[in-house]
Amino acid sequence: MSAQANVIPLLKVDNLSAGYGEMLVLHGVSLEIYPAEMVALVGSNGAGKTTLLRALSGMLPCSGSIVMNGRELVGAMPDQIFGMGLVQVPEGRQLFDRMTVQDNLLMGSYRRQDKAAVARDLDKMYDIFPRLKERRRQLAGSMSGGEQQMCAIARALMAAPVLMMIDEMSLGLAPVVAQQLMDVLAAIQQDGVTVLLVEQDVQLALSGASRGYVMENGRIVHSGAAKTLIDDPAVQQAYLGL
Ligand code: ATP
Repeated sequence: MSAQANVIPLLKVDNLSAGYGEMLVLHGVSLEIYPAEMVALVGSNGAGKTTLLRALSGMLPCSGSIVMNGRELVGAMPDQIFGMGLVQVPEGRQLFDRMTVQDNLLMGSYRRQDKAAVARDLDKMYDIFPRLKERRRQLAGSMSGGEQQMCAIARALMAAPVLMMIDEMSLGLAPVVAQQLMDVLAAIQQDGVTVLLVEQDVQLALSGASRGYVMENGRIVHSGAAKTLIDDPAVQQAYLGL
């Protein structure tokens, strides 16, 4: 689904500013994410992408407004925000290395009371990621980077997210593996999960998303349909090496 005037955004960020101590990193960021779309947030190293995710997850104090499903998130605690379905796949995966794949997945569902649905979702993860099924008894830390990223995504999905935010999914992965994960994300999105993909790999992210935002120095400097952004000479010159 693309942005439409008559559809209410799932997430609406308005004039958001945040930083670390005295240092302001985000300067009045505004963006919207609509239900069941995949949006890319791209920008180079240090642009402030991870800081934005931290602010959205409630891990950084911020000013401005973040409304999800009609509720204001600024001031809410991280576990409340997680409980509302805003779930992050962190940069570097941050799996529990010494736990099995299956136990990592079950950790994702720790807040859920619907045990029958959790069991169904576990089966579903193994359908989406057959590799994880093969390795379900293996320690997560002993898997390849691509497998660990699958595990991190599946763990987030086990939380039954309304909006899944993925930080630097492709980092350290071979291009073919990153593309396979993009294809999986497209299937997940088709299934109704809204995805915010945060990437330094601008080409990869914009090729899979319907819309995109480009961040520089803590500000959104371009936004629009992903196809339009890929064709934008300013984006091409700055990020696509064209
Ligand atoms: P990357 O892809 O490299 O993670 P990014 O776009 O996600 O880049 P951020 O990690 O959000 O960028 O960093 C934005 C700015 O905030 C940088 O100048 C960085 O040095 C600073 N920063 C990030 N984390 C902290 C922290 N914990 N304390 C102080 N400054 C930080």
